[in-house]
Amino acid sequence: MKLQQSDEEVARLIHEATLFYAKNYDLKTWRVGRGGSDKLFLGSATNRKCRFCRRSEPDVSFRNNAHAIPEALGNNTVFSNFECDVCNQEFGDTIENDFGNWFLPRRMLAGLKGKNKYPKIKSKDRKSRLDWRDTGLHVDNADESDFFIADEESKTLKLNLDVPSYIPINVWRAFVKMGISLVDESRYRYFSDAVAWVKGDLKPDERVRTWPIQSYAMPGPSKITDVTIAMLYRNNDWLKLPYAMLLINYGIHSFQVHIPSSAKDFMVEDGGIDMPLVPMFSAADIKQYGVPQLIELDFSGDQVVKGERFTFRGTYSGVTEL
Ligand SMILES: [Zn+2]
Repeated sequence: MKLQQSDEEVARLIHEATLFYAKNYDLKTWRVGRGGSDKLFLGSATNRKCRFCRRSEPDVSFRNNAHAIPEALGNNTVFSNFECDVCNQEFGDTIENDFGNWFLPRRMLAGLKGKNKYPKIKSKDRKSRLDWRDTGLHVDNADESDFFIADEESKTLKLNLDVPSYIPINVWRAFVKMGISLVDESRYRYFSDAVAWVKGDLKPDERVRTWPIQSYAMPGPSKITDVTIAMLYRNNDWLKLPYAMLLINYGIHSFQVHIPSSAKDFMVEDGGIDMPLVPMFSAADIKQYGVPQLIELDFSGDQVVKGERFTFRGTYSGVTEL
């Protein structure tokens, strides 16, 4: 459903949200991916210490370029000097693999490149496939498959994409790990509990209180743009607001991730948070297509999710017979 809002209402919504964040949070942003940009390494290249196991050379090596944001998110720009090869390998085999699986259909639709290649996705029977080329999204659909359903009358299409198996809590950990990689050196010490949670090392009596990831999707056509990453830090300990948040914005999607800190989130009450939408979408888009839709992602499960389907509905302008 498209919400009809007047120009004044949209302008007010954007203005209020901008004021809220400008007043209460310090913002730091990075633009990742899509060739040409210079590589950025966070942290010093000498006297390196891993943020996750707290070991230094010679106990561990730092030979690999550790992505601060997974490559699956199109990142070939921002790297971390704070991640040793042992942790890098371990995350790659576990939580980042789960993240990559969960994110695959989303990445597919957004056309985010990884290792200079576009993603591909196949139907379970392997007869149909979806891939990006430089000319756009291509669908190769076998007859009688429900992988891709197009209605020529209404020019609408439906894609049913299989999500490879993943463990939800690991996807959540991968999101929080991105925040830990990006966090300022002066603030890193506030996140020892989050680091333990990401590593699966929390003691039984410890608990990380965190809020569900908020995902926003803008109605309207997909625009492939750079991926923008931001860290928000609450600028004042009197405020009953979460201390740190990671924002990820690509095309028409955005994730707002609370990075938990038991040292700094003490003022926040248990009832949850009600944050305004971070103004990452343009007023012109909202005016044209409606307010971005919010979905709270529940990643609390610790069992493997198998056979999930990601359904995408959209419109198209025409069909080319090959
Ligand atoms: Zn390490």
